[in-house]
Amino acid sequence: MHKIIYTTMAVKEKENTEEKSISFVEQLIEEDLAAGKNGGRIQTRFPPEPNGYLHIGHAKAICMDFGVAEKYNGVCNLRFDDTNPSKENNEYVENILHDISWLGFKWGNIYYASDYFEKLWDFAIWMIENDHAYVDEQSAEEIAKQKGTPTTPGTDSPYRNRPIEESLQLFKQMNTPEAKEGSMVLRAKLDMANPNMHFRDPIMYRIIHTPHHRTGTKWNCYPMYDFAHGQSDYFEGVTHSICTLEFVPHRPLYNLFIDFLKEKDGSADVLDDNRPRQIEFNRLNLTYNVMSKRKLHTLVDEKFVSGWDDPRMPTLCGMRRRGYSPESIRNFIDSIGYTKFDALNDMALLEAAVREDLNKKATRVSAVLDPVKLVITNYPEDQTEDMDAIDNPEDENSTTHKITFSKNLWIERADFMEDAPKKFFRMTPGKEVRLKNAYIVMCTGCTKDENGNIIEIQAEYDPESKSGMAGANRKVKGTLHWVSADHCKPAEVREYDRLFSVENPSADERDFHELLNQNSLKINKNCFVEDYAATKKAGEYLQFQRTGYFMADLDSTPEHLIFNKTVGLKDTWAKQNNK
Ligand code: ATP
Ligand code: MG
Repeated sequence: MHKIIYTTMAVKEKENTEEKSISFVEQLIEEDLAAGKNGGRIQTRFPPEPNGYLHIGHAKAICMDFGVAEKYNGVCNLRFDDTNPSKENNEYVENILHDISWLGFKWGNIYYASDYFEKLWDFAIWMIENDHAYVDEQSAEEIAKQKGTPTTPGTDSPYRNRPIEESLQLFKQMNTPEAKEGSMVLRAKLDMANPNMHFRDPIMYRIIHTPHHRTGTKWNCYPMYDFAHGQSDYFEGVTHSICTLEFVPHRPLYNLFIDFLKEKDGSADVLDDNRPRQIEFNRLNLTYNVMSKRKLHTLVDEKFVSGWDDPRMPTLCGMRRRGYSPESIRNFIDSIGYTKFDALNDMALLEAAVREDLNKKATRVSAVLDPVKLVITNYPEDQTEDMDAIDNPEDENSTTHKITFSKNLWIERADFMEDAPKKFFRMTPGKEVRLKNAYIVMCTGCTKDENGNIIEIQAEYDPESKSGMAGANRKVKGTLHWVSADHCKPAEVREYDRLFSVENPSADERDFHELLNQNSLKINKNCFVEDYAATKKAGEYLQFQRTGYFMADLDSTPEHLIFNKTVGLKDTWAKQNNK
C-alpha cells in the first residue's frame, strides 16, 4: 500500500522557484469561501488525544490546521480529545502545548472534549429515549464476534430490543462507582448489516473508573472518541474539520450523530446547518520509523530509548533535543505536501531539510572527535594567539568569536597519513596545509608508540601565513580544523543512526522488536571542543566544522559536556547503505 516517495533536492529546488500550487484542501476551502459558506468564517482545530507526545506526523496535521486558519484569516483552536482517562494525563497536555508553540503556531482557544461531557450525556439519554441506543451487557469479545465482516452482515445483540426504560436505568447505573468495568456498554442502534462497519451498532459509552485529569471522579463512564469527536467539532462551530484518511469511513457516522442532535434540538429541517466539512489527507510516515503512539509507548516503557525525547524518536521533543529546528520540520512538511494517497516519506529528505536550514543558522565551531596530538615545534612554548573565527560564513553580517592558538593542538586522526597517496590533501610529512583561521603549517614527522600507533605529529608553522594577513593566501589544498590542548574541553558526543533497521517497519509482518536497529546509538567520550563551544547550551545550533551539525544535550553540564549529532554535513548514510 505504501509507495516510497523519494523527492530529490533538484525537484525541490524547482518547486521553490515556481509559483506554489495550493493543496487540494486549500482548494476546497476556497470553494467554500467563494460560495459564501459560513459567512466567510474559517475555523479549524487541532484535536490531539493527550495520551502521548506529539510526533512529526502530528506536525503535518498541525501545519495544515494552523496554516489554513492563518492563510484565510480564520482561527485554529486546540481541542484535547480527552475521552479515555485510563491513558491520558496533564503531562501530555503540557508537552503538547509546548511542542505546538515551539513549531511556531498560535492557537485561539483551548477546548477539551471533557467540556462537553454533560452535553454528550444528555444527548446519549435522548438517544436511548428515542430508541436510537441501548445498553448491551455482553462482553467485548462477544460483541466483536457479532460484528460480521465487510461482506457479511453482523448479528443483533440479544439486548438490542430491550425496553427503553431498562436501558435508561442501566445507563444511569453505568455512571456509578459500583458499575464493573467491562460489564456493560451503551451502543447506538443503527444497522448491523451496513457495509460500513462503523454503523454496526457502535459503542457510545463504556465504564472507566480511572480518575480523569480534568473531571476527576465525577464520571464513571465516558463517551467513545467516535461519539465525542464529531459533536465536539459541531458544538465549537468548526467550519473545516481536517483530519487523516483513516477517518473517511467515520465521516457518515459523525454526520448521522449531528442529524440526531438537530432532531433533538428541533432544528432537523434547517438545511444550512453549518456542520463542519470534514476533509481528509494522507498521514505522514517516515522510513525507518514508526508513528503509532502505541509502539512509541512500548519503546519508552521497555527502555529501548531513554524517553519520549530520546533524540532517535520521531517525536517533536526528540527532534528538538537532537537539534532539528522547527523551520526545518515545517519546510520538510511543506515539501512532501498533502494528497489523498498514503505514502512513505524518505527520512533522507527530512535530513536534507534540516541541513539546509541549519546551514543558515548554525554557529561554526571546532571540535575534534578522534583526537591525535599535533605539536607546532617552532611555535614558542608560552605563546598563545586569539584568532578570529567567523560564526557563520553564510551570513554576510556574521559575528565572530575568538579561538585560541598555541603550540600544542589536537587534530583529527583521520587528517594525518604517514604514507599518503597523491590526492591526500590533509596532513602528511613534507606537505603544507592550513590550520583553519590560523597558519599554514608544514608537517615534519610523527612519533609512534611501541605498537606502531601514532601518538604525536609534528609540524612547523609559517609566521607570515596567518589567516587574514596580506600575502597569507598562498595556495594550499587542505584546511584542517583543530583545537588548542590548553583551550578546549573534553566532551561526550552521541551519534544516532536509524531507529529501525528496515525501511518500512509498519508494513513488516515480524514483531517490531525484531526490527529495531540495535546499533542506533554510538557514544564517543573521547572528544575535545574549543572553549567557546563549551559555552553553548541546548537550543543553540552548532556546526562542528567539517563534521556535521550538533547541539548540546539537555543533560549536558559544564563538568560533563554532552553533544548530540543532529545530522552529518552530507548524506553519507545513503552511500553506506547502497541506496
Ligand atoms: P494513534 O497513534 O494512537 O492512532 P494519533 O497519532 O492518531 O494516535 P491523535 O492525538 O488522535 O493521535 O492525533 C491528533 C491529530 O493528528 C489527528 O487529527 C490525526 O489525524 C493527526 N495525525 C496523527 N498522526 C498523523 C500522521 N502520521 N500524519 C498526519 N497526521 C497525523
Ligand atoms: Mg487518533
